[in-house]
Amino acid sequence: MSKNQNKTGSYSFFNCIEKNFDKAARFISIEKGLLEQIKACNSVYRMHFPVKIGKEIKVIEAYRVQHSHHKLPCKGGIRYSMKVNQDEVMTLAALMTYKCAIVDVPFGGAKGGIKIDPQTISSENIEKITRRYTSELIKKNFIGPGIDVPAPDYGTGEREMSWIFDTFLSLRSGDVDALACVTGKPVSQGGVRGRKEATGLGVFYGIRELCHVKEDMYSVGLDVGLVGKKIIIQGLGNVGYHAASFFHESGAIIIALAEREGAIYNEKGLNVSKVFLHLKNNGSILNFPEATNIENTEKALELKCDILIPAALENVIHKNNANRIKAKIIGEAANGPITPEADEILDKKGVIIVPDIYLNAGGVTVSYFEWLKNLSHVRYGRMEKKFRENVNAEFLKVIETVCKKKISIEEKKMILRGPREIDLVRSGLEDTMINGFHKIRDLKKSLKIENMRTAAFVLSINKIIDSYEKLGIFP
Ligand code: GLU
Repeated sequence: MSKNQNKTGSYSFFNCIEKNFDKAARFISIEKGLLEQIKACNSVYRMHFPVKIGKEIKVIEAYRVQHSHHKLPCKGGIRYSMKVNQDEVMTLAALMTYKCAIVDVPFGGAKGGIKIDPQTISSENIEKITRRYTSELIKKNFIGPGIDVPAPDYGTGEREMSWIFDTFLSLRSGDVDALACVTGKPVSQGGVRGRKEATGLGVFYGIRELCHVKEDMYSVGLDVGLVGKKIIIQGLGNVGYHAASFFHESGAIIIALAEREGAIYNEKGLNVSKVFLHLKNNGSILNFPEATNIENTEKALELKCDILIPAALENVIHKNNANRIKAKIIGEAANGPITPEADEILDKKGVIIVPDIYLNAGGVTVSYFEWLKNLSHVRYGRMEKKFRENVNAEFLKVIETVCKKKISIEEKKMILRGPREIDLVRSGLEDTMINGFHKIRDLKKSLKIENMRTAAFVLSINKIIDSYEKLGIFP
């Protein structure tokens, strides 16, 4: 039994990440104690507070974990689910640390969780719980623009983030940077355009980049490019929903979509927007007219496809189903969807696994843009949009004179356009995902690392060591 396994021989979620970390540590020559410090969770705040729901007082269990303070503020989402527990929140906080380092986002990792099922609680009561949770965080100095900045995660969204901001502001009135205490807010309340779809779009950019590398595609017997690739997506929450739309628009074929209640399949491809409309009208993806139902949703993961995107929760690919997975590429849109045992099985089969700590970093990347926007108190593009348009117009005038040709009004509109906030956010995200991919790939090649996950961890740990050194903490 390895030191990462518990008494029953299986791994806790946190142990899974430690195992991945240890594999990477073989490629890093630095004192063991320093690696242990990077691995450890710095602060765990477990709380219980009462909330009156109807006539009853309910005791709510909740957490906020700050995994690393090597950069401040700490950053990470808040999850609402009955599965929330300390091990899970600690692990997700650790993943945030590694994720932020890979994409050069200057935050330490954190995560929060409230053990509730938001599907069965009225929005008034969710608001009460969210506001109380926020005031508990304020009381213990666990939230603030320079301390710890929450964001959406499984079971939360813009609505919860605006309640958090409002509660923070009411208790910290006069803080000119209060907007930056939380990200993922609605645009009307200081959010940034492009945050909602950011994780799904980042997943798309990352996989698209991989599909353009000839050597990698040939290694798994696939052609270069995303067009025509057969994709399965598991989980149609905010991440899976947007990833599915971007893949579909780019010409990939979505052959199956899986949700909690079951999956749907069509070998020729599903029309993603029609499926979403069906889901909206019926509350389920099942019985979509142009598809076959798969009642056991887990079976959808085992269908023949080129790319499998688990976009829901952790540990969905484990030692009991890994051997039956037929995908050639797995893109981890969710956090920790593959257990270490399954990882080894898939590695032996030659599957390319694009790891979570890189692939789903699009959300926190755009959260970083939102945080910067809030601290600078100015919308992206406000300063340069008109200036760019004027420069472009001058440029065009010269070209038209030299070429003795006038272009159409439509073409003119396109060429003259200055950057809007959404353009800047998306191009910043695209650049981040492309760079991150090649940094991991180059490191994998130069150090002959066995897979992308270990290479991603090596890259991340090296960056964390660098920042500790800059702070003068490590000798
Ligand atoms: N919850 C998201 C994640 O797991 C986003 C975190 C953030 O934006 O801070 O990456």
